[in-house]
Amino acid sequence: MSSLGPEPLEENFTAQDFAACLPGKSKRSIKSVLLDQTIIAGVGNIYADESLFISRIKPDRLVSSLTGNEIDKLHLAIRTCMQQSIADGGSTMKDYVDSEGLRGEYLDLHAYVFNRAGHPCRICGTDIRKVKVAGRGTHFCHNCQK
Ligand SMILES: [Zn+2]
Repeated sequence: MSSLGPEPLEENFTAQDFAACLPGKSKRSIKSVLLDQTIIAGVGNIYADESLFISRIKPDRLVSSLTGNEIDKLHLAIRTCMQQSIADGGSTMKDYVDSEGLRGEYLDLHAYVFNRAGHPCRICGTDIRKVKVAGRGTHFCHNCQK
């Protein structure tokens, strides 16, 4: 069994800890690293897309290209997203995946990009795009995210 990475909601999980567990020189995309449970545990596809939007980072950016400031912002964004989802009931993602046509409350209330391809960005109005990164459907705003 390969071991799991740290849980981002652990109280003592600082931005420094987050930076330390990222493979800093990696040519992998930040999205694929966020989804890698051996690096950081519990960040699913929705959280990854939303966190990257909030921190203004394009999902296909290489980990090695991220600045310290971007890593700090991403750390905060992941924690904010996951806490918000728990506050809204937590199980909404499962509902979303399992039940046809049932949208989780988290998505309706807070999603900036997830499952919003073709809809206007809530910040700038540009159409949200959907591409594949790390083999997963990945949603982002071409204008807001660098
Ligand atoms: Zn935008």
